[in-house]
Amino acid sequence: MAAAVALESRGVAVTLLEARRALGGRASSFEDGETGALLDNCQHVLLGCCTNLLDLYQRMGVGDNIRFERAVHFLDERGTLHNLAGTNWLPAPLHLAPAMLGFGALSLRHRLAINRAMLAMLRLGKAGREQLENVAFGEWLKQHKQPQRVVQRFYDPVLVGALNEQTNDASAKYAIQVFQDAMLANRDGYIVGLPACPLEDLYKHIPCKDVRCSTRVAEVIFNAGLVQGVKLTDGSIIAADAVVLAANHHAVQRWVPDEIKSRDLRFAGLAAFESVPILGVHLWFDRPVMQLSHAALLEGPLQWLFRKDAVGSMLHGVISASRDWVDVPKPVAMEQFERQVRELFPSARDAKLLRGVIVIEKRATFSPKPGVDQLRPQQGPPPGGAANLFLAGDYTRTGWPATMEGAVRSGYLAAEALCESLNLAADGRIVQPDLPVEWPARVLARRRINQLR
Ligand SMILES: Cc1cc2nc3c(=O)[nH]c(=O)nc-3n(C[C@H](O)[C@H](O)[C@H](O)COP(=O)(O)OP(=O)(O)OC[C@H]3O[C@@H](n4cnc5c(N)ncnc54)[C@H](O)[C@@H]3O)c2cc1C
Repeated sequence: MAAAVALESRGVAVTLLEARRALGGRASSFEDGETGALLDNCQHVLLGCCTNLLDLYQRMGVGDNIRFERAVHFLDERGTLHNLAGTNWLPAPLHLAPAMLGFGALSLRHRLAINRAMLAMLRLGKAGREQLENVAFGEWLKQHKQPQRVVQRFYDPVLVGALNEQTNDASAKYAIQVFQDAMLANRDGYIVGLPACPLEDLYKHIPCKDVRCSTRVAEVIFNAGLVQGVKLTDGSIIAADAVVLAANHHAVQRWVPDEIKSRDLRFAGLAAFESVPILGVHLWFDRPVMQLSHAALLEGPLQWLFRKDAVGSMLHGVISASRDWVDVPKPVAMEQFERQVRELFPSARDAKLLRGVIVIEKRATFSPKPGVDQLRPQQGPPPGGAANLFLAGDYTRTGWPATMEGAVRSGYLAAEALCESLNLAADGRIVQPDLPVEWPARVLARRRINQLR
């Protein structure tokens, strides 16, 4: 979608093919068989630092459908609320200092430990974090003397959801990026964005003239090392001057013949990505149980809960990096989720769970483990590669973990590469800049650079 919207805005005639009945891919909705309502496959959250995703929403005219919240709610195992709310009048990273000082879910000693780690991350800068690509974040946390309780009650709630990987196992580069971009650089980076409508509705007015849903590509047609077009499952052929493959990397591997793979390095690492599941559960109670719009849960099994209706009787729970849940029978899982909700909210104690629907996406995202960057292909063709074939998708080299922001960046990068190949690049960049780094963050980072000189 991002590539199509960007290319059309540059005057390229695009045909957007989507196998499913509606747009959105992994960030989309399905029709609930029982009620006919649109349910999201899983709650999708964005942050203020997702500058490209927000740009795409603006281009699609749905920027106003995202509800932003400056307070991130945490609930401990007893249901006590702890807010992390930045002050709007202080520049980053000072904006979160008052909230961190008063963050009652952790002792003062633990809050000071986090403070030390945040300063270290700030001083690393972007260049420093890039060098940690092959280091596990668990190792970095140990080096920076972060207590286990802090990992459980602070790093896990933030990172497991953001990266869809266990905190200790993720690449330190991506873990540190979450804090640098969302919390340390700009006062708006951390604000939580929640779609106020089903995800599917966000894409209904996509500014792309030729969108064909329920249209499945069966084959990509190559001739003399170039793409000629695609063949659909109904046998028809769509010819094209250039193709952006924006399907997942599993499909891409199937479509590209060995001959192309042997000289186009973009396909060399695709088979080595590890997929990580995400579990989402929709819960309907017979009365309002949750007033907060969202909550990060300091104890599991559910890691995040979201209120899905105006009164709080319909909830959605999420478990990221949910490998351990794939084989758990659904009634057993449901019993645990119901018990957890009852323990968290007094109003849920006598409430009846009317219905629950569990959705597990087994191949939700790739694991951002150390070394993963070597597998991620660039969007444009390398020398000797298929010159009119471009890749988009969260798995490509975006500098971001697998997120909607990463996916949009990949689409914009693919569009930039394609424009360059058509000599249409003069209009400047499509990829949006990050939020500006505010002055205290710049000053603190500079101190480190000066120390290194
Ligand atoms: C359960 C879950 C929860 C998530 N939560 C969040 C979150 O809170 N925040 C966040 O930022 N990210 C989240 N993500 C990640 C985010 O959804 C993905 O990173 C992003 O949607 C990936 O987009 P993509 O375009 O790379 O791939 P996809 O969304 O997979 O798009 C690929 C498209 O290609 C289509 N396609 C495949 N084969 C064919 C074919 N043969 N012919 C035509 N079309 C085809 C597919 O139908 C699909 O629409 C979550 C993902 C999952 C699964």
